[in-house]
Amino acid sequence: MRITRRSFLKIGAATAASASLSGLGWPHAADASQNRLRIRYTKEFHTICTFCGVGCGIICHVRDGVIINTEGDPDHPINEGTLCSKGSSISNISYVFDEAGRPKVNPKRLTKVLYREPGGDSYQEKEWDWALDAIARRIKETRDATFEVAATVGDREVTVNRTPAIGWLGSAFCTGEENYLFHKMARAIGVIRMDHCARL
Ligand code: SF4
Repeated sequence: MRITRRSFLKIGAATAASASLSGLGWPHAADASQNRLRIRYTKEFHTICTFCGVGCGIICHVRDGVIINTEGDPDHPINEGTLCSKGSSISNISYVFDEAGRPKVNPKRLTKVLYREPGGDSYQEKEWDWALDAIARRIKETRDATFEVAATVGDREVTVNRTPAIGWLGSAFCTGEENYLFHKMARAIGVIRMDHCARL
């Protein structure tokens, strides 16, 4: 094919436009088709990004209990399909991909209980059962020792059913749904001081 100066400029412009769109995050046709293949035979779950209070909607594609892909939910009224860099990489909380594109558990993820005793300067590995028992026992003891049924407000006695001695902090490493359940549980046992880095 004979390339004229005019056709050369056309090809150059098309290539530059394609590169620009790619740079803006616009997928190449090949990338889009790979993405479609990657989510084949997956089940779709909708969740909320855990990192900040904006609350963007995310679609998770799950195969055999493993998150294969995450992307912004185009039907979500907050983000309409977009995600910032934190939300885009949310699946890396649990998984990273090896050279062949297979998911594996993120090696930086803590999977064992690490306990530092009061005044200690190092962590010891503990069993989950030990940790759950210790947490439950301490919550129960503290709640029982500090529970207030009523309080005086002005000249009135009002029912409060609360403990002012326990603080509850949510985690951006948990899903919005898990943090919702933490909140329900904390309220149910009378905790009134709770927060979360994302103010969820
Ligand atoms: S961290 Fe980003 S993706 Fe997540 S809720 Fe906030 S703005 Fe949305």
